[in-house]
Parts: sequence; structure tokens; C-alpha cells
Amino acid sequence: MGRITLDQVTKSFGDIEVIPPLDLTIENGEFVVFVGPSGCGKSTLLRLIAGLEDVSTGQIRIDGQDATRVPPAKRGLAMVFQSYALYPHMSVRKNIAFPMRMAGLDKAEQDRRIDDAARVLNLTDYLDRKPGQLSGGQRQRVAIGRAIVREPAAFLFDEPLSNLDAALRVGMRLEISELHERLKTTMVYVTHDQVEAMTMADKIVVLQAGRIEQVGSPLDLYRSPRNLFVAGFIGSPKMNFIPGAEAEAHGAATIGIRPEHLSVSNESGAWEGTVGVSEHLGSDTFFHVNVPSLSDPLTVRVSGEIAVRYGDRVFVSPDLANLHKFDAQGLRIE
Ligand code: ADP
Ligand code: MG
Repeated sequence: MGRITLDQVTKSFGDIEVIPPLDLTIENGEFVVFVGPSGCGKSTLLRLIAGLEDVSTGQIRIDGQDATRVPPAKRGLAMVFQSYALYPHMSVRKNIAFPMRMAGLDKAEQDRRIDDAARVLNLTDYLDRKPGQLSGGQRQRVAIGRAIVREPAAFLFDEPLSNLDAALRVGMRLEISELHERLKTTMVYVTHDQVEAMTMADKIVVLQAGRIEQVGSPLDLYRSPRNLFVAGFIGSPKMNFIPGAEAEAHGAATIGIRPEHLSVSNESGAWEGTVGVSEHLGSDTFFHVNVPSLSDPLTVRVSGEIAVRYGDRVFVSPDLANLHKFDAQGLRIE
């Protein structure tokens, strides 16, 4: 089991409140990602769940039991940190066994759990090696193995991939997602990277200044961002925002249109402009169009390769079915 409930939880450091009253339910077996800019309170929130920080007010329940004052080791949760400290002189087997030895588990049970974890993590052939004889990704898996053998109610990850290079990060992202598919254990995962959030989460919690801006599935957030912050944070390249008269014509203070929902033509369209910088990725082409009547250049995304050159005159049109409308407070108009 691993259902975690936060009820009116707050956290202050001195007289600075970094988490205003916050309610959140994480369902058993869910993969939940906390995402938001640096300093928004993601780690603090995870550490409150882990018990590494005390809440200032409010209640945390784990599987219905009040865990607010329960010490971290007794919460049945396993935290995987960004910097994974393995014992260099111990084999992988001994490293994974370490928390079970501390807990005094019998040897046969230790071996059973190590073998299961090694199988899930593809470490079976590496159990006798020392950490120094492993790649970065394998070392990260050993650290996860040490968490798995504790059979926690939930795994808590705080930016576990940010030390890895880009290619390894993508690989580990897939491995952690696959681990979740196999174990079906609740995972709470913190990242500042919205692509990680979009690709891994069942449920994303978008945070800003300690406040929840929106909770939803990746596609909920992509299709129906509740406000300008979420609209601008989720999606890459960023959503285009158009304020002023153009928006008023649609009954909004600001309209938003994602780069993939703009089309381009040489003959006619809603906005005429000139092409600025373009990025040719092979799979997609991103380019900017400077439109004299708009305050910011539009970013357009076209699938595949198209021949646009700096300075070309083009017409750009929005797909009206995918227009997002926001009021003067920045809230979505349904
Ligand atoms: P994130 O993980 O989203 O980058 P943090 O949870 O680490 O953000 O920090 C949230 C806010 O709380 C920041 O303004 C940070 O400076 C502050 N903060 C975090 N830990 C402490 C602490 N121990 N003492 C004082 N302020 C802290
Ligand atoms: Mg952090």
C-alpha cells in the first residue's frame, strides 16, 4: 500500500512561509511528479513527506494512518537521492543488503530480496562487482536496489537524474518508468524538467512559490492548462501568448497557441510576418516569425523538414480548435 495524503500542510523556515496551506492526495501505485522552477518548494514538500523536515502545521497520512510525527525510518518510505552514496569497498550484493543487515533480516530473506531486486534492475551479473567497476547508470540502479529491498510503501526521488549526462538521463528515465510498471509501487518524483514530468508521470503537480498551480495527467495539463503559468511551463517549445486587441477579438485578455497548432503558408493566413531564426531537428522544424502587429515573435513547429529561410515572408494561422483563452487574472476561460 502507499496512499499519501497531505491535509492543510504548511512549512515555514523562521518567519518565511515556503509552503502555504496545501492539500494533496497521492493514490496507491501512482507515479506522481512534482515539477516547478528552482526554489518553488519541491524538495521541501518531498522532505516533509519523508519526515526529514517537520511540518509547521497540518497533517500527513500514509495509508490512512497519521504519520505527521512519525520518524522517517518508521514511515515505510524509501528516498533515492541525487548523489547516491555507495560503499566503494563493498560488492554490489553487500551494498544492496546493507539496509536489511541493519534491520536484522534473516539471511535467506535478504538473498531472496537481493535476487528479486537484481532481476528487476538487470544487475544479476554485477552482484559481485565493486561500485568502481560499474557505469554511472548502473551505480544509480544499485542505489535504487537498496531502496527496493526495503519493500517501501512508496519511493521518493529528488531529482535523481540531474547529475547524469543527457543520453544517460533519457535511458534512466525509461528505466525508472519501467521499474514502476513492474513494481506498481507509489513513486513521488521531483524534477524541474517539464519533459521528465510529461514523460514519466501518471499525475503531475505543478508548483510555484510553494503553491499548487494545477494537478492533472500530462495530457490534462497540455490540453487544458488552468492558468498562464501552467500554460507557459508545460510544453516545449513554449506556448505563444498574444495579449491585447488580437485576444479581445476572441473574448480574452490573452490567447495562447502552441507552436504545433500554428500553420504556415506562402499565400494567405491570419498573420503576415518574416521568418527569424529556425531550428532544424530533422524530426521537426521550429522557427520564429516576426509579425509587426504582435509584441512577441511567434514560435511555429512543423513536423519534419520544411524549407524556411531567414527573412522569408510567410503567413501564419492558428488552429482555432486549439486556441487557449485566459482572462485578465491569467485564469483559463472555458
Ligand atoms: P526546490 O526543491 O523546488 O528547488 P526547495 O524546497 O529546496 O525548492 O526550497 C524552497 C524554498 O525554501 C526556497 O526559497 C529555499 O531557499 C527555502 N529553504 C529550503 N530549505 C531551507 C532551510 N533549511 N532553511 C531556510 N530556507 C530553506
Ligand atoms: Mg530541490
